[in-house]
Amino acid sequence: MPDALVYLGIGSNLGDRGAFVRAAVDALGRLQATRVVALSAVIETDPVGPIEQGPYLNTVAVIETGLGPRPLLEELHRIERANGRDRAAERRWGPRTLDLDILVYADMQSDEPGLTIPHPRLAERLFVLRPLAEVAPELTVPGTGRTVSGLLASLEQGGSA
Ligand code: ADP
Ligand code: MG
Repeated sequence: MPDALVYLGIGSNLGDRGAFVRAAVDALGRLQATRVVALSAVIETDPVGPIEQGPYLNTVAVIETGLGPRPLLEELHRIERANGRDRAAERRWGPRTLDLDILVYADMQSDEPGLTIPHPRLAERLFVLRPLAEVAPELTVPGTGRTVSGLLASLEQGGSA
C-alpha cells in the first residue's frame, strides 16, 4: 500500500500553547513511517461551544504515513497524553493542552465507534477550514463533493456549508 496523504487538525488552549503545537509537530515527524510534508500558519481563534475558556492556537499539518487510520488515531492520543492532556479529567469541548484530529485520510470515508473520517465537524469549523484552505484549497472532502475552499466560502457567508 502506498503511503496515505492525511490532514490533521492541531489545537491548544491551555498552558504554553505554542510549545504544545510545536511539540505535536515534532512528535508527528517522529512517528513510524510518517513524514510531515506541509504546515499551515498557526492562527489564534476564539473558542466555540458552551464552555467559557481561553482562545486556541490552531494549525493543520499534512503528513504522508504508512499507518492506518486506527493506529494513527492511537498515536495521536498518545501524543496528546504526552503533552499533558488528561481526557478523564476534562469536559467535552472544554480547554485542553493539545487536541489532534484526523480531518481527512486519503479518500477514505468511515464511520466507526470512536473514529469518523472525514472529521464530522470539519465543514462547520472556521478554525479548521481556514488553515486547511491554506494548504489544500482544491482538496475535495470525501463524501461532500465540495472543495475545502468551497466549504470555507459557504461558512464565511453564513450559509450551509
Ligand atoms: P473534538 O476533537 O471534537 O473537540 P475530542 O478531542 O474530545 O473532541 O474527541 C472526542 C472523540 O472523538 C475521541 O475520543 C475520538 O475517538 C473521536 N473521534 C472520532 N473521529 C475522530 C477523528 N476523525 N479524529 C480524531 N478523533 C476522532
Ligand atoms: Mg479531538
